[in-house]
Amino acid sequence: MNATALSDLSRTIVHKRAPDGLRPGLCGKRRTTSPQHFIRSRLREAVSSLIVLSCLSLTVRAADPAAKPMGILCSFYPMYVMALNVAGGVPGVTVKCMTPSSAGCLHDYQLTPAELKAVVTSDVFIANGAGMETFIEKAVNQAPNLKVIEASRGIKLACGNNPHVWVSISGAIQETKNIAAGLAAVDPTRATAFTANAAGYVERLDQLRRKMHAALDGLKDRDIITFHEAFPCFASEFNLRIVGVVEREPGSEPSPGELAKTIETVRKTEVKALFVEPQYSAKSAEVIHRETGIPVHILDPAVTGPLDPERARDSYISAMEKNLKVLEDALKN
Ligand SMILES: [Zn+2]
Repeated sequence: MNATALSDLSRTIVHKRAPDGLRPGLCGKRRTTSPQHFIRSRLREAVSSLIVLSCLSLTVRAADPAAKPMGILCSFYPMYVMALNVAGGVPGVTVKCMTPSSAGCLHDYQLTPAELKAVVTSDVFIANGAGMETFIEKAVNQAPNLKVIEASRGIKLACGNNPHVWVSISGAIQETKNIAAGLAAVDPTRATAFTANAAGYVERLDQLRRKMHAALDGLKDRDIITFHEAFPCFASEFNLRIVGVVEREPGSEPSPGELAKTIETVRKTEVKALFVEPQYSAKSAEVIHRETGIPVHILDPAVTGPLDPERARDSYISAMEKNLKVLEDALKN
């Protein structure tokens, strides 16, 4: 199923961009003073100030405590991390990841009966879309009213139709905004909290993007060989050139002919580094290293990590920080 088909399935959701200027939640009451009761009035002012301060510190978690519980299920790890940053900690909201953190990308993934049940009974299901979760059609057939947020919806990146949108920081920013807008449409009573949380996370991602540009923009060597097709969006964002891909899809070892072609590419282009992913076997990469001497490094597409919410929340940013260090070391002039 293509992205458009998935988008159609998610038509029950009002997809709209999060506004650029995000306002903190409205909380507290207007102060009043009474000339007749000066002392009481000053006391009220002090109490009001305290309420305002409390509200400021609680803004991102603010939500109607009477709102009914909301169970968010995410297809795989990158969606889980974004959803935690948008909805984690909001009262009454639970965020779960459908697949184990070791699952990696969900190319051609088949749902187990238990996973299918979890999807169709969720209040809202968050998927990457763009062709990643082909099983959605089956779930929607079982539960036509299933609310699906397709995080990649409407995102145009230079990497074309590649589904690994989140591997680009700009893609992660836009997917976070889409998730916040989708959740706000599903549950307007918690919209303020979702929007404010998303704004905070987007700010952190934006800082990371600026830091990475500052470190990578001046590199002279920009040719890399990567593992499966996870990095085109990342490479186009940081102007790196992918001259070869060791495995086109995880789990499918390259044929001897394809391996020979990659080895030839390494020799011809004098590319400085080969990047494998921590989630997959590095057997093919080792063959290329033996044949050509090219150094092998680990580049993480951030598809696995801890499920514990406190640790998972920052795992995308820390994976990218590590990627930055690896790239700087591997490509330095
Ligand atoms: Zn993938």
